[in-house]
Amino acid sequence: MKFPAIGDIATTSVISLDINEKLFVALELMIEHSHRHMVICEGAAFRLVSIMDIIKTQGENIFLQISLSEMNLPQIPVIDKHKNVLEALELLSDKNEHICVINQDGTLFGFVTQSDIIANIDPQTLMENYRLQDFLKLGRRVKMVEKDAKTGTILQQMAEECIDNVIIVDALKPIGILTTKDVMSLIKNQVDMELSVSNYMSTPVQTIQKTASIKDALEHLKIRNFKRVVIVDEAGHLEGVVAQKELIYLTYSKWAMLMKEHQDELCEINTLLENKSKEYEMMATFDSLTGLYNRYKFGELYLTSYKSMIQRENNLSLILIDIDYFKKVNDTYGHNMGDTVLRKIANKVLQTLRNNDIVCRWGGEEFVVLMPTVGLIQALSLAESIRLNIENLVIDTVGHVTISLGVSEVVRGDSMNDVIYRADQALYLAKKSGRNCVKSELDF
Ligand code: GH3
Ligand code: MG
Ligand code: MG
Repeated sequence: MKFPAIGDIATTSVISLDINEKLFVALELMIEHSHRHMVICEGAAFRLVSIMDIIKTQGENIFLQISLSEMNLPQIPVIDKHKNVLEALELLSDKNEHICVINQDGTLFGFVTQSDIIANIDPQTLMENYRLQDFLKLGRRVKMVEKDAKTGTILQQMAEECIDNVIIVDALKPIGILTTKDVMSLIKNQVDMELSVSNYMSTPVQTIQKTASIKDALEHLKIRNFKRVVIVDEAGHLEGVVAQKELIYLTYSKWAMLMKEHQDELCEINTLLENKSKEYEMMATFDSLTGLYNRYKFGELYLTSYKSMIQRENNLSLILIDIDYFKKVNDTYGHNMGDTVLRKIANKVLQTLRNNDIVCRWGGEEFVVLMPTVGLIQALSLAESIRLNIENLVIDTVGHVTISLGVSEVVRGDSMNDVIYRADQALYLAKKSGRNCVKSELDF
């Protein structure tokens, strides 16, 4: 038994496109096939375009008419379809979650993801891939006798060779079986041992093909309440007999052996999975650009802070921050510089606040601050400090950037949306009042 080949588990319904095609062609194909990814062929190399790439380009206002070659799409590793799944693991990393599967001539065969690979190394799948003929190779012998053989002679042989069953054949095809259980009733009934075994055998005998999987064989036994499988080849000739307990024992010992042989690879899978789950936890908590909490996490933190405010009967305030004319920063200095400005402002806001204040990236160029134990008046003064610190911040190339702030205080019964809504109204007022200023719910 081997781990499955990559070609056996690859998705072959992959759609692909030449790198010189336009982005809108890719988008149309992805929509038509309901695929979230698409392989882009660039000679012998392959790249991947995802829905996320397309969404990102929309943020930058890039025209759908651009060629895929201009998009700087990530290249993805390739593997021959005959390779083992474990070899594919080596190509995976945090960045590479997809692999292109190729034919021997380098053309695209299909596509596999990290989860396809992991899912195909589980014991259940191994049971399905393990064939009866693999057992036969291990040297399972069978006692086979011709239908004319004398019953007495057979019983003697069974006793001498400690065999618990014989298969009776006619021209190599199994036609009956005699087990120790049958033998007991023959003895009890004092039958004529001189007669041929065909008089006493159980017939017909149910057989199973040697290409059947272990899973099928176990199912075959369960349905018929049999204790052993009688295995035949394509021509119906007897190949061997394997008892149920041997089947289970051998499967598991083989499984244990494989686990031992592939311990290193399995450790790798484990590490990979552990890293992934850490990464997913980080992604679920923090914004990757600024390192601040993300909007999802903020919802959780709001609930905890709200409960604590109610329990301790103290205050809780919120500030919504929006950078002024940020679009102009992007338009003038480029998106990368825009990102730098976002990071600098995020840092400055953090520096201005106390350790237990919660700062989150609320959206594109908007931040939200939650301040436990702080009432509206104190919140207004903290918001003013933030505004001033940002106004005084000098950012390389860009110079000065300002922000507008809206402040609200949480009252009993407020959901996060309620208090955000009031802060947003105040922020709107700040924008309307000329920007670079602080407004609160007291102003309307
Ligand atoms: P206002 O003073 O009214 O807030 O004007 P504004 O230009 O800041 O507001 P608008 O909402 O029109 O523009 C926000 C811009 O922020 C548009 C968007 O491209 C940009 N933006 C959003 N997220 C990011 C990001 O992650 N990085 C960069 N560089 N820009 C971003
Ligand atoms: Mg905005
Ligand atoms: Mg803005």
